[in-house]
Amino acid sequence: GDLGPEQQGLVIAHYGQQLDVEALEGEDTGKVLRCFVRANIDSLVTGDKVIWRPGSDNTGVIVARCDRHTLLQRPDNFGALKPVAANIDYIILVIAPEPEPHDNLIDRYLVAAESTDIPVIILLNKTDLVTDQNRDAIDRLLARYEKLGYRIERTSAKTLEGEQAVRVEDLVKGQTSVFVGQSGVGKSSIIQTLLPEASIRVGAVSESTGKGVHTTTTAKLFHLNCGGDLIDSPGIREFGLWHMTPQEIEYGFREIRDLIGHCKFRNCSHMGDPGCAIAQAAEDGRISTERLKSFNRILQDMAEQQSRGLKAD
Ligand code: GDP
Ligand code: ZN
Repeated sequence: GDLGPEQQGLVIAHYGQQLDVEALEGEDTGKVLRCFVRANIDSLVTGDKVIWRPGSDNTGVIVARCDRHTLLQRPDNFGALKPVAANIDYIILVIAPEPEPHDNLIDRYLVAAESTDIPVIILLNKTDLVTDQNRDAIDRLLARYEKLGYRIERTSAKTLEGEQAVRVEDLVKGQTSVFVGQSGVGKSSIIQTLLPEASIRVGAVSESTGKGVHTTTTAKLFHLNCGGDLIDSPGIREFGLWHMTPQEIEYGFREIRDLIGHCKFRNCSHMGDPGCAIAQAAEDGRISTERLKSFNRILQDMAEQQSRGLKAD
């Protein structure tokens, strides 16, 4: 059929072979069209910038994908990496006094984030629940990550009070962000403060909208009130729980990364082998005992998961 001129668009959702593309230029700017993909373009994901041509019936044809500056990928059941979302500027890892932060889980999220090279912000939510009882433990935990160079922020989705609470708007403004973190820390609550009312009404972000509602399990992009975008999906929220290779785990611990290759034995397991450079660094206090424990735990968990997976095949 007849196609209009080429123009830029943004993939905001993805349904099998079709994608929703928002027009980024011309008189249609802001309009969302269902688009079809030319067969010769490899997998497009939410967050991708594309070149598309309008069709005659409020649909369009995507003819090219623009370069991505970042890409979030997850391994499928066979270990092959599948793209999930593109052009994310920040991964915001939400933690809270309640549920109590699980060291190992924070590190798993950080390992997954490091492999993307997307910067991470560790956001302590529910500062209104910081008390004299838990303050020291939380401060110690945050200090550990701050020392590693991670940016730390604090907020309260509920009260915006509490100690040094920042407005989350100031973190996400003008950027494309994803929120990750363990269930119950307040991701949905934070996201709801950022979204225009219309998106909330359709229950777009809720994981519990129930049956019969038009939902998508793939990532969706939302425009925020303060300017900037959010990409969200149940899958993205489980980010840190994906399978990781030993190489990713070694790379994912910033303070361990540079020590790899310095152990006495080339195939060092870093779990008590003689001449282990990592064990030595921990002994010298260059690596915290918590992080080393976590490193070993994650390596072990992944090795077990791998052998279970192999047996299941
Ligand atoms: P998610 O699983 O990470 O999406 O967490 P939710 O947004 O569903 O929040 C879990 C619970 O924590 C809910 O009962 C929220 O009302 C509560 N919550 C969220 N943010 C805050 C906060 O800043 N302070 C307090 N006290 N409770 C919060
Ligand atoms: Zn070693």
